[in-house]
Amino acid sequence: MVSRLRLRGQCAVCRSWDAQALCSDCVARFEPPLARCRRCGLRTAVAVPMCGACPAEAPPFEACSGGCDYAFPWDRLIADFKFNGRLERAAPLAQRLLDAVQRDGAPRPAWVLAVPLAPQRLAGRGYNQAWELARRVARALGCRADAQRLDRPLAGAHQAELALAQRLSNLRGAFVPNASRRVSLQGLHVAVVDDVMTSGATLREAAAALRRAGAARVDAWVLARTPAPAD
Ligand SMILES: [Zn+2]
Ligand SMILES: [Zn+2]
Repeated sequence: MVSRLRLRGQCAVCRSWDAQALCSDCVARFEPPLARCRRCGLRTAVAVPMCGACPAEAPPFEACSGGCDYAFPWDRLIADFKFNGRLERAAPLAQRLLDAVQRDGAPRPAWVLAVPLAPQRLAGRGYNQAWELARRVARALGCRADAQRLDRPLAGAHQAELALAQRLSNLRGAFVPNASRRVSLQGLHVAVVDDVMTSGATLREAAAALRRAGAARVDAWVLARTPAPAD
């Protein structure tokens, strides 16, 4: 009879054995506190409630929480999670988002939703990475969550392949409220989750669609934020 040792977790970054999926040393080292605009999530030089751009062109979401920089090691971990089928990355990455939301003191929403994938992309990947984060964070916070409150009927081009101006027009009308869901968002506070925020176009469009569906307030919760070129 072969007996097996129960090995403890190995940190996905430094490979230390006495660790969880992400050890506290790596989290402290690679997720330093960064000053960000509370409204749009952009990095700011000092801690201010709002960046210079937001007063003139505020996004349709009320606040943005989360957003470690999309850089080592988070870029690699997220790519594994998203493109290489490493679904076991979902729990430790969701923990990063949960910690950030709680650190920001974000108010608890009635619903936590995820930026949807187009049906073809969902079929190819087998899961929506944003929903895998959203449902775990919602469960930890005791909020309701719904994977299908928003639909994304059109596949569109990969956002990453488009210039900034094209991203917004590519997304216009990309999200529609799912009329078959009986739950109404009328007058409710909703948080919408995505894994990576680059230009912010996707979350802006999703938030705008939720506002059109009656949500009184939409917050954006993102795991990682692509740093601006100047950062
Ligand atoms: Zn580590
Ligand atoms: Zn801002």
